[in-house]
Amino acid sequence: MPLTAATGVRALPGVGEARAKCLEKLNLGTVGDLLAYFPRSYEDRTKIVSIAGAPPGESVCIAALVAEAPRLSRIRKGLELVKVKAVDETAAMTVTFFNQTYVKDALRPGETYVFYGKIELMGRARQMTNPIFEREGRARFTGCIMPVYPLTAGVSNNLLAGLTRRCVDACAGEIPELLPAEVRRVHALAQSEFSYRNIHFPDSWESLELARRRLIFEEFFYLTCGMALLKSGRDRGRGPVFEYTDPGWFCSRLPFALTNAQRRVIGEAAADLGAPRPMNRLVQGDVGSGKTAVAAACAWMAYQSGWQCAMMAPTEILAEQHRRSLSALLADTGMTVGLLTGSMKAAEKKQVYAALKTGEIDLVVGTHALLSEGVAFARLGLVITDEQHRFGVAQRAALSAKAGQITPHVLVMSATPIPRTLALIIYGDLDLSVIDELPPGRTPVDTFIVGEDKRQRMYNFVRKLVGEGRQAYIVCPAVEESEPAEVPGPTYEGGWGEAAGEAPHPDLKAVTAYAQELKTKIFPDLRVAFVHGRMKAKEKDAVMSAFAAGNVDVLVSTTVIEVGVDVPNAALMVVENAERFGLSQLHQLRGRVGRGGHQSYCVMVTSTRSEESRRRLKVLADTTDGFKISEEDLRIRGPGDFFGARQHGLPQLHIADLAGDMRLLKEAQTAAEALLAADPGLRSPGHAALLERVKKLFADNPDIFN
Ligand code: ADP
Ligand code: MG
Repeated sequence: MPLTAATGVRALPGVGEARAKCLEKLNLGTVGDLLAYFPRSYEDRTKIVSIAGAPPGESVCIAALVAEAPRLSRIRKGLELVKVKAVDETAAMTVTFFNQTYVKDALRPGETYVFYGKIELMGRARQMTNPIFEREGRARFTGCIMPVYPLTAGVSNNLLAGLTRRCVDACAGEIPELLPAEVRRVHALAQSEFSYRNIHFPDSWESLELARRRLIFEEFFYLTCGMALLKSGRDRGRGPVFEYTDPGWFCSRLPFALTNAQRRVIGEAAADLGAPRPMNRLVQGDVGSGKTAVAAACAWMAYQSGWQCAMMAPTEILAEQHRRSLSALLADTGMTVGLLTGSMKAAEKKQVYAALKTGEIDLVVGTHALLSEGVAFARLGLVITDEQHRFGVAQRAALSAKAGQITPHVLVMSATPIPRTLALIIYGDLDLSVIDELPPGRTPVDTFIVGEDKRQRMYNFVRKLVGEGRQAYIVCPAVEESEPAEVPGPTYEGGWGEAAGEAPHPDLKAVTAYAQELKTKIFPDLRVAFVHGRMKAKEKDAVMSAFAAGNVDVLVSTTVIEVGVDVPNAALMVVENAERFGLSQLHQLRGRVGRGGHQSYCVMVTSTRSEESRRRLKVLADTTDGFKISEEDLRIRGPGDFFGARQHGLPQLHIADLAGDMRLLKEAQTAAEALLAADPGLRSPGHAALLERVKKLFADNPDIFN
């Protein structure tokens, strides 16, 4: 039976039930999955040298004849050696294998093999230890650029490379070419077959680059097409036309004067709300720019016009906080504000369900719990999500679907400043409003970068501020927090740009131990509490509330507090291992302080010796402009991380980790826009397969295109 993309992996030689299960863990169920499972990196095994010519200590391939029968010796229990002598026309070498007894029978005297490994000199003798070897002429893993795949238990790199080789040989030619010829020509892109072949088994580094360029372009191209289609679909939908779109009264009774930026953005939203085309607007504003007031104004206009509003936040802490601040901003409006979160008792939830259905609740704030089946509205007209780019297109759509026949207005709020180009891709289906001004009276946060040698001084500083009645955060990175609902931003495993050999990433245990040390040894006289993403929502809330109420002096935490927590009395943010965070994330953390009238400080502790890391951190000390910071972040890191970390809620991009080129991203965008201008909706028969592919990208929720 010929292999096709749809063939299951069980049909491949050497794959039984057990292996198939292991492959399943990597989401590799079919030949097509294997083809789309791209290498993480590559190993240069192209260099073929003679024994005498091999540079010592460098990985090379050597073709050599096995000169005698391999000898097996048991050194002691658990340590067995196979030694064999191999020669070519220039010299001889001894090849040693540790605990690989099968080698004794695998290497036959008189045969020539290609060995891939490092030559070591022992006096004048040459030696190679544990090389990879293959019969000459049958080379698959030597003499080539070897792909290195992300692995899991029970799946070795050679196994994956072997399977993928088969798949590529059998059906790379059948992968349909979906990019229009014109697009390929204009942007000088390689063909589909060539690209799949070379992304796995590059003929040369140049071919690899061509393949990569095409595949990255392709993925961004589909994504841009998809977002544009989404947008045009929504533009055709019918929204509730709000009769009441004058925010004047609401604004006039606020305890503060709105900034010009807030006014402008409320005005832009109001114009949308009064028109039949449903609003789809992204409000971007730096931390502390006052997005909540904008949300409140919109909710109030909905209420005045007779519509309900639902606001969804990514965590319970945040939902609870939004309910509090929105209730305060809307206090004398007559609006009923409700809360719905996953940890509420079933009976409480039922009550909220009922009140939403009868229309008794005018504004409900909640978590993903709002998407539950039981939730139905009397007349939902406005959906707000506060997302730090965390909800998917599909989740937003799911909440909107609760409005029944009509398409409600949607307002998306994000505190993560994303450069415009990237925003166009991540939020391509939305119109953009920017709050580019902070409320007056904020004193900029003083930012310091300090080394380990200043740790004691940092502790003294914490003590001094607490003595003045302030509160402090101490934030540590933790890899443990991998549940999507709790990870506010990318954490950089191993430290981005770090020199190898630095301290390993502290795990949750290390963070817990550190918190304990702070509590018992360093600040025994202060009120220290600890919060992390693995705690139950209730426990977390309890700690956060205690901190907000001023009953905790020092809050030690992993990055859970990054997301929108507002405690004006907190005046110090200490970040441990600062080099392990992204710049934008550090900026978010810093935004947690400087919210009251007190002079506030951010201290980034790092022991990095890497110049690059230090330069990155310095950007933060030099500017407080979130957009500048994220642009710098993007310039240094490339867009890959933005996509790789899956913060955007977009379909997962296969090639995300490889995406490093902002220019390519822009090219793909231009190409997609041009194509859609010529064929809106991709309805021409020639684009049918392309349209299918674009829809597949949003396979979790294909209905969102209708
Ligand atoms: P974010 O954009 O980070 O969500 P918030 O809406 O939480 O910001 O606002 C941060 C703080 O600033 C809140 O305490 C809020 O009451 C206050 N605030 C918002 N707008 C103004 C303003 N125009 N003048 C003064 N304070 C404001
Ligand atoms: Mg906020």
